[in-house]
Amino acid sequence: MTKKTVIMGIDGAPYKLMKDLSDSGIMPNFKKIRERGSFKKLKSSIPEISSISWTSVITGKNPGEHGIFGFVDMIPNTYSLSFPNFMNIKEKPFWKKDDQRYIILNVPQTYPAEELKGVLISGFVALDMKKAVYPNVIIPKLEKFNYQIDVDSNKAHKNIDLFVEELFKVLDARIKTADFFWNEADWGTFMLVFTGSDRLMHFLWDAYKNENHKYHEYFLNYFRKIDEYIGKIDMDKYNLIMLSDHGFEKLNVEVNINTFLENEGFLVLDKEKKNYAMITKETKAFSLDPARIFLNIKGKYPNGNVEDTEKVVDDLKNSFESLEYNGKKVIKKIYKKEEIYHGNYIKNAPDLVLEANEGFDLKSKLNREKIFEKGMFTGKHNPEGFLFVNADENKIPKIPCVEDILKIMEELKNE
Ligand SMILES: [Zn+2]
Repeated sequence: MTKKTVIMGIDGAPYKLMKDLSDSGIMPNFKKIRERGSFKKLKSSIPEISSISWTSVITGKNPGEHGIFGFVDMIPNTYSLSFPNFMNIKEKPFWKKDDQRYIILNVPQTYPAEELKGVLISGFVALDMKKAVYPNVIIPKLEKFNYQIDVDSNKAHKNIDLFVEELFKVLDARIKTADFFWNEADWGTFMLVFTGSDRLMHFLWDAYKNENHKYHEYFLNYFRKIDEYIGKIDMDKYNLIMLSDHGFEKLNVEVNINTFLENEGFLVLDKEKKNYAMITKETKAFSLDPARIFLNIKGKYPNGNVEDTEKVVDDLKNSFESLEYNGKKVIKKIYKKEEIYHGNYIKNAPDLVLEANEGFDLKSKLNREKIFEKGMFTGKHNPEGFLFVNADENKIPKIPCVEDILKIMEELKNE
């Protein structure tokens, strides 16, 4: 009989944190599990954004194939933003490829919930609970558990105590819900993603290493709770894959890429207008979060004027290479789209994607006065997630990336 498959995600958990917390006894169950399989670094998508990365996990495809390049995109032939959701994914997720029964809980970028054989509760960003749940009949159950898709991060901006309280409340409800479907429903594959971890690490990364920090124990308790959950999974009974979609690290300073582009003369804004409608005919390039650079190409955008794309790309590269903060280079790598993307939808991809050196959080807000700023976040994404598989190393690529997860899943099933 083939084993059932369990996939457990911890959004944003870096390899190093999972290693350190299991070595230091904060996550004893993960430590036990870790020693009985393969525990590796997992390469995130480029850029390392949850919506892109999880879409690559569930489809096994490159962004050029599945069509998700970020949390926001630009509507063709306009400067208006769109927010791609599950319906914009051009490839099938694994639960639509056979007739097994699936339980899919809280995977980001799966809103609105579509029909499947089983149960799906969308992860962030989900606007309306009714559209986030399939089948609808389970909604009263979720209400009973006080189920909530995401923590309200606005609370953190007002009061960090409230935010921390909510993080644990949402985690408890998530675990109750997961336990319910684990036990009640018949399934072949069960996938659950914990996403509060991403919120926790954005606001309280500084509490992680600093024992004197007011929230140090809270930070550790969050991972202790997840570890308790891990302790309930009998590893011998299942094919088990655990992973994160990207890693995290300390944030030193935020970098406003559009402000830099303005200062360098690539981006010229008409301040009478709003948002990206401010882009004028003099603009050569602009950026969308986190640091996806689009050329203002003639024929592609209303005020497009770039014809010699290679020249602009070279000029941009030179400029970005010169960007420094306190003597440190900000940009580690500049990818051209052809270097990282392939597939039918590469035409929608940004022309360049920037990767930052450690500590620099690249942002694309418009109309910021200063290039360098410090906000409330103390942690930022980095490309180094983790992967655990309860199988030998030879079942896993040497340097696995998020696009490999489905292949690994298939490999385990065929054992
Ligand atoms: Zn994430």
